[in-house]
Amino acid sequence: MHAFPCGTLALDFAGTLRARRDERPREMLEDARALDLWFVEGGVVDAAPQADPRDLAAAVELREAIYALAEARLEERSSSPADVAVLNRWADSSPVSLALEAEGIRRSGSAAACLSTVARNAVELFGGPDAALLRECGRPGCTQVYVDRSRGGRREWCSMRTCGNRVKAAHFRARQRGVVA
Ligand SMILES: [Zn+2]
Repeated sequence: MHAFPCGTLALDFAGTLRARRDERPREMLEDARALDLWFVEGGVVDAAPQADPRDLAAAVELREAIYALAEARLEERSSSPADVAVLNRWADSSPVSLALEAEGIRRSGSAAACLSTVARNAVELFGGPDAALLRECGRPGCTQVYVDRSRGGRREWCSMRTCGNRVKAAHFRARQRGVVA
C-alpha cells in the first residue's frame, strides 16, 4: 500500500522517495509493479497500466524533476530549465482519458498517460496560486512537501495522522521523562 499523505497528486508522487536527506532514502517505487499500484491507489487510473522498466525510469525522472521544482520554490530559487523541460514534456503528452459512466468516472490509460496526468497536476500547482503555499513537513527527516491551505498558514505536517501524531507522541514521552518542561 502506498501513502498519499498530502492529497496533492504531484507532491504525493514526489514523496515516493521518502526521508530524502537520510543516507538511505526509502524508495517506494522499487519496481514497475509498485508504480502500477501507485497509479491505481492514487486514483490516477482504474486498472494497472502494466508499466515496464522504461516507464519506471521515466517516472523516477519526472518525480525528481517535480521534487527539484518544489524545492526551488521552497528555497525561493529559480528552477532549473532541465527540470522544467522534463515536466513540460510529460504535461504536453496525452493524459489518462476520462469517461462518465453509470457507476462514476472511468479512468483509463497507459503508464505514459498516467505520468502526463501527474505532470499536468504539477504544472497547475507550480504555475498557480498554490505555489506560494508550499511547505516542507515539520517532522525532522520527513521531507514531504505539501500545500498549506489552512487558515493562517498554520499546518505543520504533511499528514496529521502520521507525522503530526508521531511528533506529538514523541513530545508527550519526552515530557513524561521530564526532558521537556
Ligand atoms: Zn511528514
